Amino acid sequence: MRKLTILGATGSIGASTLKVIEQNPTKFSIFALVAGQNVDKMRELCQKWLPEYAVMASDIAAQRLKAQLTELNINTQVMSGVEAMCQVSSMDEVDTVMAAIVGAAGLLPTMAAVKSGKRVLLANKEALVMSGQLFIDAVEHYGAELLPVDSEHNAIFQCLPNEIQTNLGRCSLTEHGISHILLTGSGGPFRYSDIESLSRVTPEQAIAHPNWSMGPKISVDSATMMNKGLEYIEAKWLFNTEREQLKVLIHPQSVIHSMVQYRDGSVLAQMGEPDMATPIALTLSYPQRVDAGVAPLDFTKVGELSFLEPDFQRYPCLKLAMDACYEGQHATTALNAANEIAVEAFLNRRLRFTDIALVNQQVADKVCATYTPSSCRDLESILELDRMARGLASNFVSERQL
Ligand code: NDP
Repeated sequence: MRKLTILGATGSIGASTLKVIEQNPTKFSIFALVAGQNVDKMRELCQKWLPEYAVMASDIAAQRLKAQLTELNINTQVMSGVEAMCQVSSMDEVDTVMAAIVGAAGLLPTMAAVKSGKRVLLANKEALVMSGQLFIDAVEHYGAELLPVDSEHNAIFQCLPNEIQTNLGRCSLTEHGISHILLTGSGGPFRYSDIESLSRVTPEQAIAHPNWSMGPKISVDSATMMNKGLEYIEAKWLFNTEREQLKVLIHPQSVIHSMVQYRDGSVLAQMGEPDMATPIALTLSYPQRVDAGVAPLDFTKVGELSFLEPDFQRYPCLKLAMDACYEGQHATTALNAANEIAVEAFLNRRLRFTDIALVNQQVADKVCATYTPSSCRDLESILELDRMARGLASNFVSERQL
């Protein structure tokens, strides 16, 4: 039986992970649950799953949780802070860590799991975007098993030969007969909107994704297509792609979750209902398959499948991320940090939807003029650059504040 720590247990991926575990109670069990501030949800999860440990981001949240669990006679040990998150990700009792904290906050606990040689189910793409080569090198050095949860990367993973699956980030695609990785994306809720109207988009409109149900940050990123940009960077690291091998395609129906094109003309695609339980189930049970509780795809109801090139005028964030990918680690770390600040400001109605890209651009320009890829030689320098870029982004947000 696999024993899990779930980082980001109170979120959307956390919920889907627990749903798959509930389907397969003899195969998986919970060791520790980790969350940010949502004490009520964490209390519910502790009541149901009785984990050994529950970790909250702040002391205050942990104290509230502890008081509630004591009243309920639940023996779960409650801790707080990043160090405790790293601890429960690396303890001997755990063999599998679901990395699903949103944003840069997930980097250190995810790295702790990697450095303890765990099976790491990577949903937290921002961790890989921030640390790229360092992350891939750590996976190899510490013998961790890396499995992509993001539906597109999971789809690509399923279409790749076993040797690449078991050596992510280190194999040559060309040597395995692969010509292209086709990363698909729905285009989000505004793919047909008048571009002029985008400056008036509200947070409610932006988080209403047409095909997927997700947390607020990734939903906004899907609307700007920064999510596809972060996924582009994630794909470069996971699959060791050259620039010309990696392509983005808009596929509004989200039936195909991504594809791999081979030299001989074959294209392998992974399809399914847009439900994260499917990729999560695969990462939990790999190389076996378990029941994910997802309805089978009904091809008679699928209808037309269409594909189009992304329009960078509509999606400037996608272009920024693709450029940053080849600029280097300093650029992707800074862009990720800027985007987190800009999206938060947008969700709090302090920034226009279209200004997210402008703040990101300003930060990327400033950082690229001052720093080089070698500025990100270790985790400390990455975190320092991340802090600096957040400061810059906050200033640019203030200048544009509504
Ligand atoms: P949610 O916003 O739904 O959940 C985020 C989780 O992270 C919550 O449990 C939250 O806790 C926790 N969290 C936030 N800040 C901290 C912190 N400082 N310390 C510890 N925990 C923290 O996000 P999603 O589940 O949608 O996404 C999670 C990750 O997975 C993201 O990186 C996203 O890009 C990726 N992903 C998500 C997909 C999806 O379908 N949702 C698909 C593919 C990738 P709390 O709420 O208690 O504060």
